[in-house]
Formats: sequence, structure tokens, C-alpha cells
Amino acid sequence: MLSNAKTSLRTRTHEGLSPTTDDYSVLKERSKAENFKSLLLSSPGQIWKSRVSWRIAAAVFMTILLVQTMIMNFGTLPAYKDRMLKDLREAGRGAVAAIIDTKVSINEAPFSEEQVKRLLYTTDISGLSLYTYETNFLNTYGANPTKTVGRLHDTNFTQFNEEYGYYVTVLNPGDLKRPYYVVMRMDATGVQNEISAYVQDNIKIMLIMSLFVTTVLMIALGRWLLEPVLFMRQNLLSAFKNPEAPNIPDSPFDQRDEIGGAIELANKLILQNADNLTRIKSAAEDKIHKLAYYDTLTGLPNRTLFVQTLSERARQKSDGTADRFAVVTIDLDHFKDINDSMGHNVGDAILRSVAKRLRSAMPESAVVSRSGEDEYAIMMPLSSDINTSRDVAEKVLHVIRAEPFKVFNEAFQVRASIGVSTFPDDAVDPDQVLKNADIALNRAKEEGRDTIKEYSEDFDRAVQQRFQMLRDLRDAMEHEQLQLYYQPQLDLRTGEVIGAEALLRWWKPDNSKQGGTFISPGEFIPVAEQSGLIVPIGEWVLKTACTMAKGWHDDHNLDIRIAVNVSGAQFTQSDICGFTQRVINEVGIDPSKVELEVTESIFMDDIGHTIQTLQNLHAIGVELAIDDFGTGYSSLSYLRQFPIDRLKIDQSFIRNALNDPDDASIARTIIALGRALNLNVIAEGVETIEHEKFLVTEGCDEVQGFRYSRPIPADDFLDFVQNYNGDLSSFSEE
Ligand code: C2E
Ligand code: MG
Ligand code: MG
Repeated sequence: MLSNAKTSLRTRTHEGLSPTTDDYSVLKERSKAENFKSLLLSSPGQIWKSRVSWRIAAAVFMTILLVQTMIMNFGTLPAYKDRMLKDLREAGRGAVAAIIDTKVSINEAPFSEEQVKRLLYTTDISGLSLYTYETNFLNTYGANPTKTVGRLHDTNFTQFNEEYGYYVTVLNPGDLKRPYYVVMRMDATGVQNEISAYVQDNIKIMLIMSLFVTTVLMIALGRWLLEPVLFMRQNLLSAFKNPEAPNIPDSPFDQRDEIGGAIELANKLILQNADNLTRIKSAAEDKIHKLAYYDTLTGLPNRTLFVQTLSERARQKSDGTADRFAVVTIDLDHFKDINDSMGHNVGDAILRSVAKRLRSAMPESAVVSRSGEDEYAIMMPLSSDINTSRDVAEKVLHVIRAEPFKVFNEAFQVRASIGVSTFPDDAVDPDQVLKNADIALNRAKEEGRDTIKEYSEDFDRAVQQRFQMLRDLRDAMEHEQLQLYYQPQLDLRTGEVIGAEALLRWWKPDNSKQGGTFISPGEFIPVAEQSGLIVPIGEWVLKTACTMAKGWHDDHNLDIRIAVNVSGAQFTQSDICGFTQRVINEVGIDPSKVELEVTESIFMDDIGHTIQTLQNLHAIGVELAIDDFGTGYSSLSYLRQFPIDRLKIDQSFIRNALNDPDDASIARTIIALGRALNLNVIAEGVETIEHEKFLVTEGCDEVQGFRYSRPIPADDFLDFVQNYNGDLSSFSEE
């Protein structure tokens, strides 16, 4: 029961609830009996072990002893001694008076020698000196007391000699009722013995009394001081060990006395402290819980809580069934552009508005979460009203598209890519359902965004293949399966070979007859880009291509430009300028003989950074070309700001130039644009003489394509250049 109460307290605390007074009182009641029993059992032994009790008792014992000794020494003992001596003197006086004969002359001894001898023999009197009432000496008998007194000057003389055990006293005529003075010496050893017996008896009584008082005191101390103090110590110890849920029984001691009052106060303080601690802890836990499970910007659950809730909802019910639900993942299209161009305040406001709109569009039963920077995830039970996940996704798409988001009086049309997956149709593992929705979302993004994609197993297979390819690609780098091919670039006017584009080739060995296959860069470059592997690969390409070109220059007097493709990822994920500079220094190549080909996609990223990087690269002295020009996002206004040397018309325009007037006019426009901006224009994908003729007519500067040569290994490239006669018409006419 006690442990139940404790567990309840702990659970409440854990759940972030304050423990109720009930919890405490149950705890207190239960623990009271246990605790107090153990306390009382231990206290008799404790009393005799208590240092404080011993000290107090010892002090009291000594005090009683001291007081009693003083009373005896200064009060009862002298009085007792006096009484004893008085009795001794009285006995002596009676005996002496009895033998004095009143009829004899005043100047003679009033008794006979015989009488005195008997007196000395039968009483404690050991000697006598006799004087007349005029103090004239008459005679001495036995031990001479006059030795002590001398002549009788002091008629009141008395002396008790404890060393020799005698007592000398003067009996005057008043005492004796006779006209004589008698100085009497008496044996006082009897008195001495009585006195010492008296002292011994007194000491015994004193000790017994002291012991009795001390024992009573110890018991009283134990009951009234030690027990309460131990009780308080026990409570403090419990509070020290377990400050949040201390084991505090109610105090059995009277609160009206000082210690009882102090205990009550201490108990209250301990419980108050426990209460405060629990409250502080549960508040902190609440806060931590909020931070860990909720997104601070939108107040929506975060991905962690979403995944947890997903797992809970996916748990089977007792009848073995589980709810069906849709998992929809949403990614805002080009949100980064809004953030970059309008600032984070606008970005944040849009994220908040999207969250709000989604939350209010979805029923209570749905979980709407923010799962990433510009990503949201929704889980919604499928019911008879809404029974397909697609319906949920369409609602989401509609809600986002419905009207622009208003931020600071500006309208922003937000679009979103959406991935959809259904539990348990697509996967029985809730984590997998979410992953599937993410896979579908990626598909939606790849397929041009602003669209919904429902998960299909084929996506998964494609993803698996990508993972496999990534693993293989890493392997390929280690085992040097990557190599560079070179494709010549020619001057359309002079026919000269003026450059070479380095193109990656991956020869992947397998068990086939050929011993392996070439994997197209079109297949593996996107995988390398997504994983960041493009950075080390790109660096290897640049270094290898520059080294090759430098070799051609030095060993074969071949003064041509080497063009190297650079991915957008290399711009954002690496210090491309630093690396290029290092390669140029190390290889010792003339930087103007190196050209980096970038695609228009780099202008989609942080434009300020892109311009800066291009300017830095240009400052190194390398040339810059825009590859696949015309297919992507080109802004003429930007184009003027870039330090570009060359436009490379995408091969699709060249391929179709002869049968598609639109493509022909695009190619024509690009050439004109190049001329206007004073940029060189190179056409790629030149396969036939017709293509070439078209380009000559339009005034294109340079060409590259299968008509002249496919990309070929370095040695073949050297052969090509050395065998080429410089005449474009020498190439066959296909
Ligand atoms: P790209 O830079 O536009 O390269 C030109 C592509 O067109 C090459 O394909 C080349 O073989 C092909 N080509 C050249 N002339 C003709 C022709 O007359 N007809 C046809 N049909 N095709 C022609 P490849 O080698 O398969 O490379 C594909 C793409 O892979 C390249 O396009 C480039 O974007 C990328 N790539 C290749 N190597 C690298 C690299 O080292 N780094 C990076 N980042 N990307 C690379
Ligand atoms: Mg290229
Ligand atoms: Mg190209």
C-alpha cells in the first residue's frame, strides 16, 4: 500500500501533475506507524548511547554530589561533631561531679586518690587537673591535661585533638555545682569513630540519591528530549534522502512544548519543501516536454511527437483490428527563396499561417505537426466520410492553394508538394508509413513540385536502388573505378581544337562477358549530389583534369582549355574557391586554361553567395561557363552581374533546331544574347553537318558533339588532336 502511494506520487510527478494532499496524507498515515514503531524500539538503547543525555546526567550527578558534600561539611557534620563532644563532656562532668566531696576544706582535694583511679579506669577520662574556684592549682591525676592548657587562664578552654584522639575541656564551678575548676582530658577515639561512620553513611546516601536522581533524569531526558530529537532527526534524514517524497509520520509529541513545536514546524517545512520541489520539477518537466515535443514557432507537435503518436495510433486494439489512417507529408515549394529574398520574419510568419490554416482545416482527430523547416506532416483517421488518403491530401493542397498568405500586407502564393501513404495498406510499421509518405513527397518534388504523389512500391524500389548505388559509388571511389573521358571542343570559325570537356565515367566491374558496364553520369551524379559525395568526387575530377591538361601542355605542346563540370552542391557544401586555387597552385596550370561549367540551378540557391563565389573564382583567373543554358531558371538581369565567359547552349535545342522552329529560335536567341553581352557561345550536342551549318549561319563561336568526337579516354584524345588536320569538313557527314 505504501509503495502504491509512492508509485502514485512518482507517476503524478512524472506526468507533470502536482501530488495531491491525498497522496501525502496516505503516505504519511502509512509511514507513521512503521516509522514510529522502529523509533520507539530503538530509543531505550538510544538513550544510554546518547552523548547529550550522558553529559547532562553527569553534570547533574556532580552538582548533587557537590551540594550534598557542602551541606555535610558546613552543616550537618560540625553539628554532629559538637553533639558528640557535648555528650562526651557531659558524661565526664557527671562522673567527676559524683566523686567530689563537698565537705572537705576548700584548699584540699575533694576526693581520694582511690576514687580518681577508679574514675580514670571506668570512664573515658584519662587525666584531671584540679583548681580552686579562685583558680589556684590543687593537683593533677592521670595524663596531665595542664600540659595542654598550661596554667588555667581561660576558664572556657576546650580542645579536640583529632590527630591524637583526645578532648580537653574545662569544667567550671557552675558545671560542677562545686567551688572547683577541673581541667579534664578525655579519650575521643570513640567520637572520632562515630564521626567517620557518620561521614561514610552520608556518602553512601549521597551516592544512592545521586544515582537515583540521575537515572530518573536519564529516563526523563530520553522521553522528553531524546525521543523527540531522534524523531526529528529521522524526519530530516528522510527529507535529505528523498526530498521530493520524504517519509514523514505525524509527530506524536505535544506541540505545545518547545521541542514538539519545533518538530511540527520542521515537518511542515519538510513537506512544504517537498511540495515546492515536486512543483518545480513538474514545471521543468512540462517545459522540457514542450521543448522536446512541440515546435516553438507554430506550437504544433514536432516530428518526434508525431512519430510517437503514429506508433500509438497504429497499435492494434484488443479485438485485433487497427484504425486505418492517412499520413500526409507536405513540403512548401521554394520556401527557401521566400526566406532568402524576404527575410526570416516573413518566412516565419508564412510557416505560422500555414500551420494555422492546416490545423483549422483538419478535424480534431487529425494530428497536424511541423516535421521539418518547411515541412508538415498530418495523420488523419480514415472514416466513412473520408476514406482515401488522397482525399486528405487534396484537401491539404486546396487549403494551401485556396488563397495567398497575407504577411505584412503582402500576399504570398504558397505552393506545396505532398506525399501520401496509408496505414496499414502501404506498411504495417508506422515508421515505414511515414517514410513511405516522405518517399512519395520526394517523388512529388522531383516531378516538378506543386503536386500530390501517392506512395507506390516502385518508389521504394527506386529508393533502394539509389541507396545501393550510393554504397557502390563509395566503393568505386576507393577502388579507383572512376575515370575521366575527354570530349574535344572546336572553334567553329578556325576549326581548331580549343578545348576539352572532362566527363566522368564509372566503370563498374560485374560478372558479365565484358567484365563490367559503364554507368552514366546522368545516373550517378544526382545520387552523389544528394549525398554530398559530389564534393570529394568533384575535387578529384578537377585535380585529375588539370593534371592531364598540364601534362598535354608540357609534354605535347597542347595549349587547350580544360572544361570541368561543377555541381551546385559543390558551391554550397564546400570551399570551391579555396580548393580550385590549391589545385591550380599544386598542378601549376595557367588558370585561364581552366573552365568551370556551372548550371543555372546554382542561381536558385542563395544568390548573394553564388555571385560572391563566382566573383572569387573569376578573381583566381579561371573561366566560367553556364552549362545547359536555356533549360533552367535564367534571369537576364542576373546574367549581367555574373562574371561569365561563356554560354553553353543545351544540346536539346541543337538537336531539335532543324525541325522545331521554337528550339531553333531559342538557339538563335542565345547566340545573339551572347554576342550582346560579349560572351562566348558554345553549342553542345552537335551531331550532324546540318547542325554545324545552322550554327555557322547563326554565328556561334564554338562547338562540341559526336560529329567531331564522343567523349574518349585521355590517350585517345591525344591521338585525336594529333591526327586532326584542323579542317572541320574532314569529319564524316553523319
Ligand atoms: P553535360 O555537362 O551537359 O555534358 C555533355 C553531355 O552530353 C555528356 O554526357 C556528353 O557525352 C553528351 N554529348 C556530347 N556530345 C553529344 C552529342 O553530340 N549528342 C548527344 N546525344 N550527347 C552528346 P555525359 O558524359 O553522359 O554526361 C552527362 C552529364 O553528367 C553532363 O552533362 C554533366 O552534367 C554531368 N557530368 C559529367 N561529368 C561530370 C563531372 O565530372 N562533374 C559533374 N558535376 N557533372 C558531370
Ligand atoms: Mg558540361
Ligand atoms: Mg550540357
